[in-house]
Amino acid sequence: MSSLKSDNKPLQNRTILVTGASDGIGRAAAKCYAANGATVILMGRSEDKLDSVYDEITHDKGPTPAIITLDFNTATPEEYSELANTLDQEFGVLDGLLLNAGILGERKPLAQYSATAWQQVIQVNLTAPFLMTKALLPLLEQADNASVVFTSSGVGRKGKAYWGAYSASKFGIEGIAQIWADELANISNVRVNTINPGATRTNMRASAYPAENPEQNPKPEDIMALYLHLMSDASMGINGQSLDANGFKL
Ligand code: NDP
Repeated sequence: MSSLKSDNKPLQNRTILVTGASDGIGRAAAKCYAANGATVILMGRSEDKLDSVYDEITHDKGPTPAIITLDFNTATPEEYSELANTLDQEFGVLDGLLLNAGILGERKPLAQYSATAWQQVIQVNLTAPFLMTKALLPLLEQADNASVVFTSSGVGRKGKAYWGAYSASKFGIEGIAQIWADELANISNVRVNTINPGATRTNMRASAYPAENPEQNPKPEDIMALYLHLMSDASMGINGQSLDANGFKL
């Protein structure tokens, strides 16, 4: 796909924040955005893992990224405000926000689901993306055409036994993405869409399906066409949609 070639640089001079950039799909997206010209703000909870993504991007001669650690399980609204202030001072604008970090939680019937696991999954997968978007909206509105991308799942569209809080959190994501998109449609240049990655070869997938042969699923690098499309000007005007990354072609 020609738009994935780094020499096109469709994200030149853009600043894009990626949550969960330390591993799996977020790591691949951060590297894809940098290869396409963006300055990427790598966000996660493990500084060591983020450092290695930073090293890979600079080794490949991408724009120097930034690293910010934040644990979404414990982050307070005040910490999101501090984050917004820091980014305002450093960059003054945010062109893209990929809300990708997530946890699986327990794979159990709802009748046996623990209250603690429920709260953690809803906190990390649903509350954190809401608080992050709210705090960063003024910075996104400084951009000519900002793009916010939420991350859903097949079980965010159809409930399935034993997917518990994860499924509920992804239904919530589909909902808040639609609400943001509708609220912002006529009053700002910020577009808001949702990606369902589909089965992808990551640690989370291996935890959810331990008996599965990982080779049968695409690697994160193989599903980046939609991630790139939604951050580039090619997707201007696309708002409020929920799209599948697996098999996406322009
Ligand atoms: P991984 O488990 O490989 O990566 C998850 C990322 O989220 C890691 O960077 C992880 O950081 C970060 N993260 C987890 N908890 C926190 C926290 N408390 N605070 C900050 N960061 C945190 O998952 P995937 O790459 O597979 O999944 C990415 C997204 O795609 C998720 O939203 C997932 O629900 C969704 N998805 C994935 C599918 C798949 O088949 N892989 C299918 C459908 C949806 P750390 O490195 O520190 O653990």
